[in-house]
Amino acid sequence: MRKLLFMGLPGAGKGTQAELLEKFGFKQISTGDIIREAFKNHDKIIQPYEESINNGGFLPDEIIFQLIEKALSKFSEGTKGYILDGAVRTLPQAEYVKEHNLIDTVLFFELTEDTAYERLSSRMVCPNCKKIYSNKTTHCEKCNVDLIKRHDDSHEAIHNRFQIYKEKTEPVMPFLKENFEFIVLDANPSVEEIHKEVLKALEL
Ligand SMILES: [Zn+2]
Repeated sequence: MRKLLFMGLPGAGKGTQAELLEKFGFKQISTGDIIREAFKNHDKIIQPYEESINNGGFLPDEIIFQLIEKALSKFSEGTKGYILDGAVRTLPQAEYVKEHNLIDTVLFFELTEDTAYERLSSRMVCPNCKKIYSNKTTHCEKCNVDLIKRHDDSHEAIHNRFQIYKEKTEPVMPFLKENFEFIVLDANPSVEEIHKEVLKALEL
């Protein structure tokens, strides 16, 4: 099973590219989804933290990775691989995935901050199904409701995310390069072009 980690600035299109790999047998692991699911189900792993989280606290890294490992363990034998997106943002997290052998290849989606900003500030989300639209759509084609701007994509929130990325995530890159197969992809072109490069890089 191939174990991929997608890295890159918010807006690099990591989630979209991960989705496009689904038909090639790859499963996408979204840390946010896993945590939300665990809360909904009152998962034993997070029970001791529920109260503190409800008061605005954060889950410790170790607990997040326990949830991820639990999700990974449910994959069937036939799964070609999985993609971790947004799971490694700090050095301790990178060290954890190395120690637990959770990834073997890093795909780094490289793009300029200007392009990332442009993409994030123009995208809209369906308030109903949560699908994100990055083109000029104003309506969710599935739910037939008006799209809204995500709070996460306000001018201030975007710059905040870039800042956190620079401070915490960028310094992780040397460690990732040293310890895993590290593939750099140009994330400036269109979704289709990047997808082609991803397939080439993974020899699919
Ligand atoms: Zn919708």
